[in-house]
Amino acid sequence: MLLLSMLLCEALYSQTLTFYYFDKPAVISANFNTGQVSEEPGFDKVLITAANVATFKRSSPPNLVAVYTKLNNTASPLRKSADRLTTISNTIITNINFNLVNDNTGLTANVAEANQFFCRSYDASTALQVAWPCATNSGSDGSVRFGENAAGRNDFESVVIHEISHTQTLSDAQGFNSRYDKGTNYVRIAYGGDAGHYINELQADQQLPMDEAFGNFWGGVHDPVWRTATIAKFTSNREYLLGSHSLLSGTADMWTAPHSVLVSGVVPAIQPGQAFPFFSANGYTLTLISDNLTTGGSRYEARMYRFCDIPGKYVFNSEMLTELYLHLFHK
Ligand SMILES: [Zn+2]
Repeated sequence: MLLLSMLLCEALYSQTLTFYYFDKPAVISANFNTGQVSEEPGFDKVLITAANVATFKRSSPPNLVAVYTKLNNTASPLRKSADRLTTISNTIITNINFNLVNDNTGLTANVAEANQFFCRSYDASTALQVAWPCATNSGSDGSVRFGENAAGRNDFESVVIHEISHTQTLSDAQGFNSRYDKGTNYVRIAYGGDAGHYINELQADQQLPMDEAFGNFWGGVHDPVWRTATIAKFTSNREYLLGSHSLLSGTADMWTAPHSVLVSGVVPAIQPGQAFPFFSANGYTLTLISDNLTTGGSRYEARMYRFCDIPGKYVFNSEMLTELYLHLFHK
C-alpha cells in the first residue's frame, strides 16, 4: 500500500521537460529546416523532438548537448536531483521549458531591454553579451534559460539545479523588490542601485534571498564540491553589503548600524554610449542602474556590515545567511 501511494505521488508530481534550441536563423534552417522565429531578437528556435534529436546532438555546441543528454537520462545524477526538486510546486507546475542558446558568437547587440528573452551578462574575455542562466515561471510552465558559454562551467550541474528551483516557487506577482533586472513593474532596488548582484548583499525583502538561497542549497545538496566551496565563502567573507539605493538604506536601524564605507561619492553624469553612469571609488567600479537616479549631483554609498552588527530582523534579507542556515539545518 505504501509503495502504491508513493508511485501515485510520483505520477501526480511529474513534470515534463521540454527543450528548445536557439541559434542564428541560417544555422537553424540549414540543420533543422523547421525552425521558427524565437523570442530572442536575431535567433530562431526549434523544439527538440525524437525526430531531430540526432541532428541536435550532432550539430549543436557540446556543453548544451551534454546538459540535454543528462536531463533526458532518468538514471543520471543531474536528472535524479531535478526529479526531487520538481515535487516542490506540488501540481502547480506541470512542464519546464529549457531554452538552450548557442551564444558562442554572442547575443545580438543593442537590443532594448524589454525585448531581451535571455538574461544577459557581459563576458569580458570575449567582449560578447552571453546568456546568463536564469529562470521564471508563469501559470503551469517553468522556463529555464542559458547559453553554451555558461553550460561550460565546471559547476554547471548545480547551476541547472539552482534554476530549476526557481521554476518551482511562486514569484512575486507585482515584481516589487523581487528582481533587479528588467521589466516595467520592477523597482530596481532589490540589490541596490548598482548592476552587480552579490551574494553578500542585504536585499530589499526576504523572498528573493530565500529563492536564491534555496536554489544554491539544492545545488550544494547535489554537488558536495559546490557545497564545500559555498560554506568556505561564508567563513571567509563575514561582511554584508548594502548600497544606498537599496530599500534597507531607508531604515535607520540598519543603515546606521556599525559599518565601514566601501565606496562613497557623487554620481557622475552618464557618458556618451552608456545606458547608466559608472561610479568609481576606492578601487571599485560600479555600474549604477537605478532609473530614479539623478546623475551629476546625487550621492551613492555602499556600506559593509559585520554579521554581529546586522539587526536580527534583517538577517534573512541576505541570501548568503539564509543559505547558510539551510546548510546547517540540513547537516
Ligand atoms: Zn537565482
